[in-house]
Amino acid sequence: MAKNRLPKQSEDFPAWYVEVVKQAGMAEHGLVKGMQIIKPHGYAIWEGMQRALDERFKATGHENLYFPLLFPESLFAAEKDHVEGFAPEVAVVTHGGGEKLEEPLVIRPTSEAVIWSTYATWIQSYRDLPLLYNQWCNVLRWEKRTRLFLRTSEFLWQEGHTAHATSEEAMEEALRMLEVYREVAEDVLAIPVLPGRKSPSERFPGAEETFTIEGLMRDNKALQCGTSHFLGQNFAKAYDVQFLNQQGALEYAWATSWGFSTRMIGALIMTHGDDQGLRLPPALAPVQVAIVPIYRSEEEHALVIEMSSKIRDALAGNGIKVRLDDRDQHRPGFKFGEWELKGVPVRMEIGPRDVEADQVVVARRTGGDKESLPVAGAIAGMAAMLDGIQSDLYDEATALRNANTHEVTDYASFVEGIASESGYWAGAWCGRVECEQKAATDTKATIRVLPVEREDPGAACLVCGRPGVERATWARAY
Ligand SMILES: [Zn+2]
Repeated sequence: MAKNRLPKQSEDFPAWYVEVVKQAGMAEHGLVKGMQIIKPHGYAIWEGMQRALDERFKATGHENLYFPLLFPESLFAAEKDHVEGFAPEVAVVTHGGGEKLEEPLVIRPTSEAVIWSTYATWIQSYRDLPLLYNQWCNVLRWEKRTRLFLRTSEFLWQEGHTAHATSEEAMEEALRMLEVYREVAEDVLAIPVLPGRKSPSERFPGAEETFTIEGLMRDNKALQCGTSHFLGQNFAKAYDVQFLNQQGALEYAWATSWGFSTRMIGALIMTHGDDQGLRLPPALAPVQVAIVPIYRSEEEHALVIEMSSKIRDALAGNGIKVRLDDRDQHRPGFKFGEWELKGVPVRMEIGPRDVEADQVVVARRTGGDKESLPVAGAIAGMAAMLDGIQSDLYDEATALRNANTHEVTDYASFVEGIASESGYWAGAWCGRVECEQKAATDTKATIRVLPVEREDPGAACLVCGRPGVERATWARAY
């Protein structure tokens, strides 16, 4: 069998990541620094994420629409925290059609500004609310240090932007979408996540509350996997979005926004990948079963292809995404290695002897011995086998996450623990930004998540010893 030449994950995780992205045909760097070319295998995985999210957005009452890429710079400046937060990352168009523009145009780093200035013309009365809209698009945030999928200047995402008549309704919406993200991460991507709140210093610029789902990668670093923001009335005030309420009084509308990006492809790689490459959860895999025919002569070829085609058709008929790899120019060993690298959950091998015995060799990407199964049984049992692989990946990632989650009550153990093992470290926090900053300086860790509902930790702040007001989970993060 052709061995994939990847650096060992345990020896050099960053180098392993770069090589998996490259060799599995996921993405490569564009001509301009920070830009990425998403290749077919990477894009097919993104399409799977899009489908999973989009069907849930629609099931929760949202519609898709599309806003322009560019908007006037002055529009952006209206919400003070927002513009300050994004200023270092914004790209501005100053010339067009060979002429200097009268007003520079911002390339969207996110679309609150253009959307809320438009909502001002769409919202007049409580009868116009709620607006439950989402757009699929690209955004641009000028990044100095970039890594494919994880941090690129341009990335693809969806951004939901909703407007509501009451604070309660907007908060409900922000939490509903957090739950949608949790469900897609866990049930589709098989990534166990911690849902919760961000600390004030980690909030989205302009948000009153930012909710997040956080994942722990195989190198024990955390990754923010999707965020949902309760924006209060900040954007309605900045863009003068007022409506007549049922009592006939003018009120500012309440807002949420929420986003999930191609960064999640990076999360997927780093949660499930191993020394042989990617391992894709069946619910997301563009190809769930790859059939590799094995033959030496023309005669064998005819026999093996006939049987392989029958199996392919039967599996496809059962709704399974199957590919018969009948490429003549590659040897079976090469094909095994390639499907393994690309993370296809199940590989089937069929040779002349298998045809004779009416059986097929089945190999699971999650491990275990290859086994010969009767053809009818392999077909009938494939959906269950894929379900099993889906839960195996989730369970394995959960076990790893749990093994690397620590409760801590004193600062010295916390500093030492993060330095030696990284992972999640949970303990009491007094809620002061000074302690957050001190811990960040001493450990390079940040507060990843606070419980959705504030919990009294019943202990002293890990950092300063003052009474704790929150239970915080810390980690080093991407
Ligand atoms: Zn403190």
